[in-house]
This record gives sequence, C-alpha cells and structure tokens, in this order.
Amino acid sequence: MTRTIERAVRSPQVQLGQGRQDALVCCVMPARLSARSRGYTSAWDKARAGYLRTHPHCAMCRAIGSTVEATVVDHIVPHRRNSSLFWDKANWQPLCKPHHDSTKQRKENGRIVRLIGVDGWPVAEI
Ligand SMILES: [Zn+2]
Repeated sequence: MTRTIERAVRSPQVQLGQGRQDALVCCVMPARLSARSRGYTSAWDKARAGYLRTHPHCAMCRAIGSTVEATVVDHIVPHRRNSSLFWDKANWQPLCKPHHDSTKQRKENGRIVRLIGVDGWPVAEI
C-alpha cells in the first residue's frame, strides 16, 4: 500500500506571542499583474477584435481538420511584456479557448504537444 504524506515546511524558530514556536512557511507566488498592467489595454481590445474578424477560426483546430471559432488572440512567442512581440501581428494566432488554455500552455511549459485529428490519428506535433 502506498501512502502519501504531506509535509509542512517549518522555518527556524520564530517569535510568536509569548513563546517561541515554529511558523509554517508556505510557497509565496508573485502576484500576477492585472491584464491591463500586462498590456491588454483598450487598444489591445480593438486590435484583438479586428484580428479575430479577419482570422475567425482556431489555427490548432484547423490543423486537425476542424473548424471552430477563435475567441483568443494568442502570442505565438510569449511576449513577457515585450512591446514589440506584443504588437507584432506575425506573432499572433487565432485560437479557441480550449486550445489556448490547455494545448498552448502545455507547449509553453516545454512539453511536446501532439495534435490529434478528427479521425483520431495524430496529425502534427507542435
Ligand atoms: Zn482550437
């Protein structure tokens, strides 16, 4: 039988109240900036809407032989607040939300992503 045990990481003794006690330390993730702070301004909203009008179908769905409405303008190379990459339309691709939120995220995390066609066979690796 396999048993999983979660461990709390304790810091060295920390003064709490009247006595010294261990304090739990948790992972602190940096706060994510708001979408507006990351460059997604009203100018982006207009550019995005125009792009989706001229590129209405998800590029990844199209690669697997399906036609699905794109609702996200994805930055092919993550812009990481680089203005040139952010506004470079050659770096944009239309995606549906499921592909943006799952397939694209796996790819950005360094995984090889295999696109499976509507017939159930792999059609591409990205
Ligand atoms: Zn898609």
